[in-house]
Amino acid sequence: MDLAYTPEAEEFRVEIREWLSANLPSGWGDDDFEMTPEERKQFNEQWPKKLFAGGWICATWPKEYGGKGLTTMQGVVLAEEFARAKAPMRADFFGDTLVGPTILQWGTEEQKKEFLPRILNGSVRWCQGFSEPNSGSDLASLKTSAVLDGDEWVINGQKVWTTGGHHADYCFLLTRTDPEAPKHKGISYLLVPMRQPGVEVRGITQPDGTAEFCEVFFTDARCPRDNVVGGVNNGWKVANSTLAFERGQSATTGYRRFEEEYRQMVAAATENGAIEDPQIRQRLAQYYTKYQILRINGLRGLSSTLSGTKDMGVIALGAMNKMYWSEMHQRAMELALDIFGAQSMLVDAGPASQSWPGALRDKRREGYPVSPMMSSFFFSRSETIWGGTSQIQRNIVGERVLGLPKEPQVPQ
Ligand SMILES: Cc1cc2nc3c(=O)[nH]c(=O)nc-3n(C[C@H](O)[C@H](O)[C@H](O)COP(=O)(O)OP(=O)(O)OC[C@H]3O[C@@H](n4cnc5c(N)ncnc54)[C@H](O)[C@@H]3O)c2cc1C
Repeated sequence: MDLAYTPEAEEFRVEIREWLSANLPSGWGDDDFEMTPEERKQFNEQWPKKLFAGGWICATWPKEYGGKGLTTMQGVVLAEEFARAKAPMRADFFGDTLVGPTILQWGTEEQKKEFLPRILNGSVRWCQGFSEPNSGSDLASLKTSAVLDGDEWVINGQKVWTTGGHHADYCFLLTRTDPEAPKHKGISYLLVPMRQPGVEVRGITQPDGTAEFCEVFFTDARCPRDNVVGGVNNGWKVANSTLAFERGQSATTGYRRFEEEYRQMVAAATENGAIEDPQIRQRLAQYYTKYQILRINGLRGLSSTLSGTKDMGVIALGAMNKMYWSEMHQRAMELALDIFGAQSMLVDAGPASQSWPGALRDKRREGYPVSPMMSSFFFSRSETIWGGTSQIQRNIVGERVLGLPKEPQVPQ
């Protein structure tokens, strides 16, 4: 096995490193790096502009739609270098990483020209309208309908758990367009404007006071006939591409967040003496081993992408990685709570709890302030659910990859 990257990729790595060191504030990423609130504010305003000017947002998209036309390998190196430097990469989850790549794969030329540049420059915000009150895991049973009326689709129904629905300008929405067809064959994938009279968004308030999930009600809402992606009644295939993008995020960089978390846990355990407990040491060693496996599986995924392999092993790897990292992370956050002990409950449980990787959500928890570490613990509970539950990933591997008998269907 040769884990080395090509000389061209390494040359590109140097270019990115140079750009980062020229553009990031000096000392960025060091343990003792600090910014005043004013400096932080300025950085947050300027950084997306610098990224956009450098062409680093969605840089693998073709040039004609505003991307930089990077190869897959260059895109990987770019993500690795940003992760290594702890430089924020604007990744608007729904636009940059879900609907954008889906439009690139399935959209018409007109859709690409209309939507991709607006995703790139951040002028349109998106939400994902897949789940319904009775259609989550069994997504293909969805009932929201779309019926053609002249040059427009007329949409009726309800979605739920729509993250960011209250801020979104557009929704990529799964609708039933042929009620007579078998359930997987009568679905279409529409791009629907959210700011119109037929769309009502209600936030679902969670116990901590935040309301980032929404219920979305469509009552004779409309979108142009041409806003169907991948063809009428072909939405199931298109949706599966979106779900694959959702499950296959950041193959070779995803582990870094866990590596950083591990570092924080070791620091906290060393500080408060928990490191002397043999069980804590054992669990830390297990976590280390597991995220190394995640890293290596990321490289396997990259190899398959580069060689164009499309066998069942690739599907298995995507499903397996999603269940693997989400379950691993729940155990890891339980370990973090055991390391911090009763201190976990404090809003400030010490430096390690404050700079917890990936936990930006605390800023929105004003009604129920918690430390970033605790915020990450809460969110980890949802990680085995969103993007397809762990049980569903196991069904995919069992039925579609290993060829095990399908589970018995409960008569409706
Ligand atoms: C943080 C978060 C963000 C989300 N954001 C969005 C969003 O933006 N847009 C959107 O459309 N949806 C979103 N969702 C919804 C998410 O996709 C669904 O919650 C998920 O698909 C599960 O569906 P459900 O909640 O209806 O659970 P159900 O499907 O009712 O499942 C309940 C339980 O039964 C199990 N189960 C169900 N069927 C089977 C089976 N066949 N075999 C074995 N076990 C089974 C499940 O694994 C689960 O444990 C989000 C969810 C979360 C947690």
